[in-house]
Amino acid sequence: EPRIYTKEEHGISPDLVSWEAKRTCELLHARGFRAYIVGGAVRDLLLGVKPKDFDVATDATPEQVKRAQRRAVIIGRRFRLVHVIFGREIIECSTFRALEGAGVRKDASGRVISDNVFGEMWEDAARRDFTINALYYDPATEELCDYHHGFEDIGKKRLRMIGEPAERYREDPVRMLRAVRIASKLGFEIEPQTRRPIAEMAKLLSNVPTARLVDELLKLFTCGHAVECVKALRKENLQKAVFPVLDVILSEPDGERFLMLALQRTDERIAIGKKISPSFLFGTLLWPQVIKRWRHNFEARGMSYMGALYSASQDVLATQCQQLSIQRRYQVDMHDLWMMQAKLERRTGKNPFAVINHPRYRAAYDFLLLRSLVGETETELVTWWETFAEASEEERHEMIEAAQ
Ligand code: ATP
Ligand code: MG
Repeated sequence: EPRIYTKEEHGISPDLVSWEAKRTCELLHARGFRAYIVGGAVRDLLLGVKPKDFDVATDATPEQVKRAQRRAVIIGRRFRLVHVIFGREIIECSTFRALEGAGVRKDASGRVISDNVFGEMWEDAARRDFTINALYYDPATEELCDYHHGFEDIGKKRLRMIGEPAERYREDPVRMLRAVRIASKLGFEIEPQTRRPIAEMAKLLSNVPTARLVDELLKLFTCGHAVECVKALRKENLQKAVFPVLDVILSEPDGERFLMLALQRTDERIAIGKKISPSFLFGTLLWPQVIKRWRHNFEARGMSYMGALYSASQDVLATQCQQLSIQRRYQVDMHDLWMMQAKLERRTGKNPFAVINHPRYRAAYDFLLLRSLVGETETELVTWWETFAEASEEERHEMIEAAQ
């Protein structure tokens, strides 16, 4: 039986609830369905944080949801969901899912590979990962519905798995990464029972499709607390399981310093509301490998400076992107970002004008700045570009003259 909290008891501020999420629920209520805001959004609302996105759970089927909304599309990912569209705002709407039964298929290691059977609200709650992620908020009545003492855990800043932790990790090993990310992001403690099995079960992450791991790693790096997250990953000894690459990077002093600095900058950017691109992050992650090959190609193989970098970039993209299933469009940007590093060193002729007008200049400059912070390039080069960017046309020509 769920515990119901009234608005006086839970104190959620309705102002933080998006109009679009309320509207989605309203339209379902009007047709006699139940509809709640659920998941990370409710957790954030209770913590007084403005949620970055809203999910809705309902007893209406995807088709019924679609019919109730003005604009909606059913999308078939691992679970069938409905995206309710309000301009640029999208509310993800899912039907209550059943706990066990014919629809749930597991592989040999016990990992759930397919499930799409609708169920009761209490079942939907039991299938969620952590107690604080299984809270249901009805924007109409402003009541909070809690099946697993999530409200209490929020108060105690405690991340607790619903059900038997080892079993839940076996079903979906990604939950180990989610535990680390969510706890780090919120500054919560992972409750001991939830934490204990991780060390032993980390190896199960190798059964997870790489694309999903990459998604999760991106979430981790862009959650605004990436530095905390990576420290926690290491503490739980999960970094090896996440990515052989991450492990390689973190085991090299240079690679580690570079990555940690990049993540620190990422956290700072997110804190002031700026965006960061996946290609920049992946570019950072793989840069230590690029630079190693660049040097080798240039010094030992007698290639030209640019040619050596080009070849290094292509090599790393070919080997790592496939392994990490990094999307093609990111690869193009990563290549540009890396090639720009050599171009930024050439302060002669027309080159600086081409560089400064390049669509990826800003990212390339940020990248150069990172490199200078780890001593990979001179600070003077960074300040030169800073000045050049601000300078008038005439001053720019003078700067190029002086740099010859
Ligand atoms: P974030 O702030 O990163 O969005 P979130 O908790 O909302 O955190 P989502 O990935 O958006 O994370 O998932 C939404 C909800 O779906 C979660 O709150 C949780 O209830 C449920 N969920 C997500 N992933 C899992 C999983 N692997 N196992 C069980 N439940 C999950
Ligand atoms: Mg979410």
